Amino acid sequence: MTFPQLQLELGERAAQGLLRQRRTVASPQSPHLVVDGKPCLSFCSNDYLGLAYHPRLIAAFQQGAQQWGVGAGAAHLVSGHFEAHDQLEKQLAAFVGKPAALLFSTGYMANLGVVQALMGKGDTVFADKLNHASLNDAMLLSRASVKRYRHNDIAQLSTLLAQTEKGRKLICTDAVFSMDGDRANLPELLALCEAHDAWLLADDAHGFGVVGAQGRGSLSHFGLDSPRIIYMATLGKAAGVFGAFVAAEQLVIDALVNSARSYVYTTATPPALSVALLESVRLIEQGDAMRAHLQSLIAQLRAGLQGLPWALMPSDTAIQPLLIGENKAALDLSMALRGRGIWVAAIRPPTVPTGTARLRITLSAAHSVADVNRLVEVLRELAC
Ligand code: PMP
Repeated sequence: MTFPQLQLELGERAAQGLLRQRRTVASPQSPHLVVDGKPCLSFCSNDYLGLAYHPRLIAAFQQGAQQWGVGAGAAHLVSGHFEAHDQLEKQLAAFVGKPAALLFSTGYMANLGVVQALMGKGDTVFADKLNHASLNDAMLLSRASVKRYRHNDIAQLSTLLAQTEKGRKLICTDAVFSMDGDRANLPELLALCEAHDAWLLADDAHGFGVVGAQGRGSLSHFGLDSPRIIYMATLGKAAGVFGAFVAAEQLVIDALVNSARSYVYTTATPPALSVALLESVRLIEQGDAMRAHLQSLIAQLRAGLQGLPWALMPSDTAIQPLLIGENKAALDLSMALRGRGIWVAAIRPPTVPTGTARLRITLSAAHSVADVNRLVEVLRELAC
C-alpha cells in the first residue's frame, strides 16, 4: 500500500508551508466574493476585465446553449466541430493579425499540443526559466532537447542558439510572465529567431485582452508580425470564459490539426462557449475605457505600496506581485489579509523559485478605486 507514503509526503509539504488547499466560492467571479459564508474582497483572479460575470456574455452563453445545446459530443476531427467554433477561430485570427487560428480546450493543452506536434527527437526547445508550467511540461512531452535560459537573458539565449546546429529550433516564452507580471522582450527574441532560423512560441495568457491596441495582445503591443511567431492565448482570463487558441500560419495550424495530440484526442469545447467568446472579443475590442481604468488602478496600487517592508516587483501589468521571500511569511501575510476580508493568494515553490514566495496581487477593471484603497490601507496596517 502506498497510502502511508502519500501521507508522509503531504505531511512534509505541510511542514514546509507548501500544502495547497482549495477554498470554495459561493458567488459568481468578481472582486466581491462570498467565501466561507463571508464577504471577501478578492485580488486573485485573472478576470482582468471583469467579463466573467458580464451580462452581455451571460446572455450570449444562454443564447448559444439554446442554439447549440450544452455539449459538442465529439472531438473536432469527428463530429464535434461546429459553425460557432469556426466563426470564433476566424474572428480570433483576424483580431490578433494572423492568417489562421485553432481553438484548444485549455491553454495548458494548447501549449502541450504545439510543442509536441512541432518538435521531436533531434530538435531543441529554448525556454525562459520563469515560463509557465504548461510550457515546461510541453517540452518534456515533445522529447526534444531542452535548453533553459536565465529569465529574459537574451545574451545567454543567443549563445545557446549559436551552439545548436542541428534540428528544428523553437523559443518558448510567456509574453507576460504569469507569476512576475513583467514582459518578455519579444522583438529581441524574434530577431534571434531570424538569425538562427527558429520559431517563437509566445504564450500571451496574461496579455490577450489587456495589452496592445484594443486589447489585441502582446504582438500588437510591440507591433510584431512574423510567420515565425506562433501565438497562444487563453480565453479563461481577460476574455472571461474558458478555452484557448493558437494563431499562426495556415500550414502550422494544419500541422496542429493533424498531430497535436491534445487537440486530436479530446472532446471539443461546447459550441455555446464559442458563442459567448464571440461576444467577449467584441467587448475586448470596445474595451479601451476598461483598460484605462485598469491602468489607473495599477498606478494607484504601486504608489500606495511605496515604502513597505515588502517590495512590489517591477511590473506594469495587472499582475503585481509583492515579494515576501519565505514560504511561511507569505502564508502568514495572506492569512492576515484573509482575517480582514481580503483574499490575495500566496504563491510558493515550485510555482516560483525557492526564497521568492510572494503575494500575487492581480487587479481587474472590475475593481474600484475604493477596493484598491482598502488593500493598500490593510497592507500598511499589517506592515506596522
Ligand atoms: N500559460 C500561462 C502563462 C498561464 O498563466 C496559464 C494559466 N495559469 C496557462 C498557460 C494555462 O491556461 P489554462 O488555464 O487555459 O489552461
